[in-house]
Amino acid sequence: MKAAKKTAPEKARARPKAAPKVGFVSLGCPKALVDSERILTQLRAEGYLVAPTYEGADLVVVNTCGFIDAAVEESLDAIGEALAENGSVIVTGCLGAKGNIVKQTHPRVLAVTGPHATDEVMNAVHAHLPQPHDRYTDLIPPQGVKLTPRHYAYLKIAEGCNHRCTFCIIPSMRGDLVSRPIGDVMQEAENLVKAGVKELLVISQDTSAYGVDIKYRTGFWRGRPLRTRMTDLAAALGGLAGKDAASGVWVRLHYVYPYPHVDEVIPLMAEGKILPYLDVPFQHASPRILKAMKRPASSENNLARIKSWRQICPGLTIRSTFIVGFPGETDADFEQLLEFLEAAQLDRVGCFAYSPVDGAKANELPDHVPEEIKEERKARFMTLQEKISAARLKHKIGSTATVLVDAVSAKGAIARSTADAPEIDGVVHVKPSSALKAGEFATVRVTRSDKHDLWAELSP
Ligand code: SF4
Repeated sequence: MKAAKKTAPEKARARPKAAPKVGFVSLGCPKALVDSERILTQLRAEGYLVAPTYEGADLVVVNTCGFIDAAVEESLDAIGEALAENGSVIVTGCLGAKGNIVKQTHPRVLAVTGPHATDEVMNAVHAHLPQPHDRYTDLIPPQGVKLTPRHYAYLKIAEGCNHRCTFCIIPSMRGDLVSRPIGDVMQEAENLVKAGVKELLVISQDTSAYGVDIKYRTGFWRGRPLRTRMTDLAAALGGLAGKDAASGVWVRLHYVYPYPHVDEVIPLMAEGKILPYLDVPFQHASPRILKAMKRPASSENNLARIKSWRQICPGLTIRSTFIVGFPGETDADFEQLLEFLEAAQLDRVGCFAYSPVDGAKANELPDHVPEEIKEERKARFMTLQEKISAARLKHKIGSTATVLVDAVSAKGAIARSTADAPEIDGVVHVKPSSALKAGEFATVRVTRSDKHDLWAELSP
């Protein structure tokens, strides 16, 4: 077959675009050299070329040393030279972890990261020098492939768990806690928000332990230092929402254990930065059973904690899960659990009758509870909680709420308020639905309630 003669614009389109070029200055010790090798490897893997001169580069990365004064000076000089010769400079390495010295001396640098930060450096490179075309990876949207509806997404911040709850085998399957770099988490969150996500659901096995494994190491995002810690992450995610979290981007925290530092996120909720919603899996209230379960933060006075959280943030929704019929649970332990439930007045509660999991330590504990007693306790527990939940929802009748619409049909819309996480909590049934669209916020007035759900009409 004879090829058709190409027109000029077609020729231009067919010509391969030159790959972007990155210059690299590597200073410091062998550990810094290994960091440089990793970054260069990643750059090449993604199709960037490495330029041997400043003028041939589209952007320059300077990997610095900050060990002694002479090294600091040498690094600052190298950054200054790269800025003068090229103008587009990203700084990484030990000097980047030394407070604001780089930004103060050279405010024109595009981004600053600490050492061992290949992902953060790559994020900065992507932000200022778009990735070369790749016919395989270009098919993947920046927010990744998601299985959730377009308007909400789970944001996983860590894998594994350092606890050893006796009923659980997750640590033996997934290992100890490994926190994701905070720069990566924030970049993913930002990509999701840019793709239209309105609600970020922060998850891990133990969200309150985020960063413990890396001693709350300082990471970088948008060139700013950010500690790998739940409170710092929550504040940064809250910042993505703009001025008003209620109608901007919802940030919902799941799997938070009642450690003292959790108190620090409650003011963020009271200020509307993140949703006033805490998913705290208490699992039981009897100290004896919590000890047998080896639950994290089992010695905390949870009732006092809940009271003080609600004083700071009266609109707080608390969700929890419990296990009844754990081996050794006596009538007295169960009564203590019911008393806790009555006093705590939790908003959303799930309850499971204990069932042994292959490989869990709890299987070896004595005094397993007979099945019929487990089921009877579960039924009593749920009856009490439904009463509490119904009363708490009834209080909302007449109030105005912002909801996020999940689905719309001719019969009405299914939406969720700040108190409702998808899949596990209740919903708000809204009418009329003609003006509503899935994935958008709406203001409604609550007209009716039952044990789990609310009914509302669109506010004028
Ligand atoms: S149940 Fe306990 S051991 Fe299992 S993942 Fe949660 S905190 Fe970790």
